[in-house]
Amino acid sequence: MQPLPSTNPWDEDDGFHEECGVFGVWNASDAAALTALGLHALQHRGQEASGVVALTDPGSEKGVFNAHRGLGLVGDIFGDAKVMAGLKGRAAVGHNRYATTGETALRNVQPLYADFEFGGLAVAHNGNLTNATALKRALVRRGCLFQSTTDSEVFVHLIAISLYANVVDRLIDALKQVQGAYSLIALHHGALIGARDPLGVRPLVLGRLPEGAMVLASETCALDIVGAEFVRDIEPGEIVVIDDSGLRSINPFGRQQSRFCIFEYIYFARPDSVMEGTPVYGVRKSIGAELARESHVEADVIVPVPDSGVPAAMGYAAESGIPFELGIIRNHYVGRTFIEPTDQIRNLGVKLKHSANRPMIEGRRVILVDDSIVRGTTSKKIVEMVRQAGAKEVHMRISSPPTTHPCFYGIDTPEREKLLAANHDVEEMARIIGADSLAFISLDGLYRALGHARRESGAPQYCDACFTGDYAIPLTDLVGHPERVPALLAANGQ
Ligand code: AMP
Repeated sequence: MQPLPSTNPWDEDDGFHEECGVFGVWNASDAAALTALGLHALQHRGQEASGVVALTDPGSEKGVFNAHRGLGLVGDIFGDAKVMAGLKGRAAVGHNRYATTGETALRNVQPLYADFEFGGLAVAHNGNLTNATALKRALVRRGCLFQSTTDSEVFVHLIAISLYANVVDRLIDALKQVQGAYSLIALHHGALIGARDPLGVRPLVLGRLPEGAMVLASETCALDIVGAEFVRDIEPGEIVVIDDSGLRSINPFGRQQSRFCIFEYIYFARPDSVMEGTPVYGVRKSIGAELARESHVEADVIVPVPDSGVPAAMGYAAESGIPFELGIIRNHYVGRTFIEPTDQIRNLGVKLKHSANRPMIEGRRVILVDDSIVRGTTSKKIVEMVRQAGAKEVHMRISSPPTTHPCFYGIDTPEREKLLAANHDVEEMARIIGADSLAFISLDGLYRALGHARRESGAPQYCDACFTGDYAIPLTDLVGHPERVPALLAANGQ
């Protein structure tokens, strides 16, 4: 396969790729503390930075916004009593930002906040916009001064220049101009607003606290931690406006076939979350069982690559009848910073993070189960480590199809040339990672595990572009650079 040059549309504007967690609450006591707790439960969605903007007197124009943002983990940023004391308010919105190759600067930490004609507005966004560069260029030309390098700031300027009078109409006006994936939560003195892109690529759920206050969050695990009951998922393309009179739902885009991100089920979401009515943990076990039916090999022990491979390995073991053992132990105290910046440090990170539990491995034929192979760094190190611990055979089973295409909708993946599966077939990949055999779940097997007979070719039920190159939302910013991505654009029918 012809390796492609960089497919990263944000190369010229670093900082433009983020995975994130968002949380918001309207009219509750200790709103900022609830938001910090919610962000803590969503820590897996972003470890680079966090922010909370709280609002006193929600529903009144007298409300005052209080903000705190910091780099690092939620507990470190909001564990300080003085910080929390400063975040007075009965409504709040919060955001976790994922560590990527983009710029790590406080100016990129959300929620973004700006003062408009209609008052202050804080915005927290999860996802990636695929026409942000084009929009930004046009906005800068007409005089907008960007303060950060995140694509999310485009929302702020589009809202500012909108000719509509009220904030909800202005937001709808902005949403109609952006392309890409977004789950966002905005807070102004009149309401807490949640919005999901028309295809519902990224998640957003609604919950209710016992006292009746409404909560919005990326995942249900964030509702659980604050004691909120799950009400429902926000629908694709839906905008919910929560104020003192209750909840109003607006559907400016009309109904479209939803394309929820399939990778949320495979890796990204926390296993105790329920997404689109389906518990993530159960899906992962079903994928493991499906994997065992599709590509089983004789072995003595099933070993997950912790933590992400654990539920799939449990499903695999139950289906195959082979014992499940924790043959690899994960050190939970390794900061993510160890594994981020360079390939060399990533290699070291794998060793810091995992160690072999020798008695479970020595002299045995081992099936390792992990959720995905991206660059192949993790698999290669793990296979090597398991061999060094005395395994007789090492077979790798992956609970996703080969990751052949980068994500442009909010999951951090490297450019195509660094994706192992984009450049090698499965046999070559097995040789590169040093496994006796390697198998991935098929795309239809993955859909079966999610309760569908198969992937419908005309109308896929999920966004699975990372496995298929079927990009459901236009990659407008890439179109300006066709020399970078001929195969991608062909795959996208452009
Ligand atoms: P790699 O070492 O590049 O092949 O990455 C594969 C490992 O990273 C797997 O063990 C996954 O659990 C994990 N992983 C997959 N996707 C992501 C992502 N978007 N961000 C961080 N880790 C990931």
